Amino acid sequence: MSLRIVVTVKYVPDATGDRHFADDLTVDRDDVDGLLSELDEYAVEQALQIADDADDAEVTVLTVGPDDAKDALRKALSMGADKAIHVEDEDLHGTDAIGTSLVLAKAIEKAGYDLVISGMASTDGTMGVVPALLAERLGVPQVTLLSEVSVEDGTVKGRRDGDAASEQLEASLPAVVSVTDQSGEARYPSFKGIMAAKKKPVESWDLSDLDIDADEVGLENAYTAVESATERPARTAGTIVKDEGEGGKQLAEFLAGQKFI
Ligand SMILES: Cc1cc2nc3c(=O)[nH]c(=O)nc-3n(C[C@H](O)[C@H](O)[C@H](O)COP(=O)(O)OP(=O)(O)OC[C@H]3O[C@@H](n4cnc5c(N)ncnc54)[C@H](O)[C@@H]3O)c2cc1C
Repeated sequence: MSLRIVVTVKYVPDATGDRHFADDLTVDRDDVDGLLSELDEYAVEQALQIADDADDAEVTVLTVGPDDAKDALRKALSMGADKAIHVEDEDLHGTDAIGTSLVLAKAIEKAGYDLVISGMASTDGTMGVVPALLAERLGVPQVTLLSEVSVEDGTVKGRRDGDAASEQLEASLPAVVSVTDQSGEARYPSFKGIMAAKKKPVESWDLSDLDIDADEVGLENAYTAVESATERPARTAGTIVKDEGEGGKQLAEFLAGQKFI
């Protein structure tokens, strides 16, 4: 039986770019370069390693996002994923985490799966809640924030590192897991991988393909709303201490003044 792994990957604005809010207080995704969320590269990497170790496995990458989100899928395909699914619909604009989890869950059920792998959080919304929401909607176990993961005889196993202790966790498949940025370096796409990705299938679905009504998603139906957004004040140069013998004392006074010490 082929092991069906679905990796959820998010297309996010490039953090080095000029990220700003649009008039409707959602993040402006139109005029900003975007890329595959870095934390999801670890999820793709772990899926590929599990597939490498399995007798027969297929890795599907899935994203919910605007047209440019295809770039995130292409990157994951060039890393070695087998196929991709892109859910795109204008009614998805401004969808919150609860709505996103609904769309992802319906797409994962339609695709068929044994294991869902997500990143620990996206690099823009950074809520870290979608994997748990997904497990709830799919009605399967969740094993989150793993720094090590493997699949054996229908069971997913992993290690979660906490501040005080590490936990060894496992769950029977089907299940949802999320992996951290400590789970191992993500591979760089090879030239051969980049070329092969151009031929790999990308399925495009919209809300009607998933039997989801527009009034279940989108900005109007979000459970949270951004009331206002103000520009973060520009960074100041800060206090420069010129050490002419009193540098240490001045530094201590500054730290005390800031109540750091
Ligand atoms: C600055 C900002 C603030 C926001 N604040 C809120 C808020 O307070 N409440 C709210 O409900 N929504 C909020 N959103 C919207 C929310 O980001 C999106 O709904 C998003 O799709 C899910 O939340 P997240 O990015 O925080 O996901 P997380 O829970 O951080 O994501 C965890 C993992 O889920 C998967 N994933 C997440 N989104 C997608 C996707 N679109 N496609 C495929 N996989 C995905 C990825 O594997 C990711 O690593 C905010 C968005 C931004 C940019």
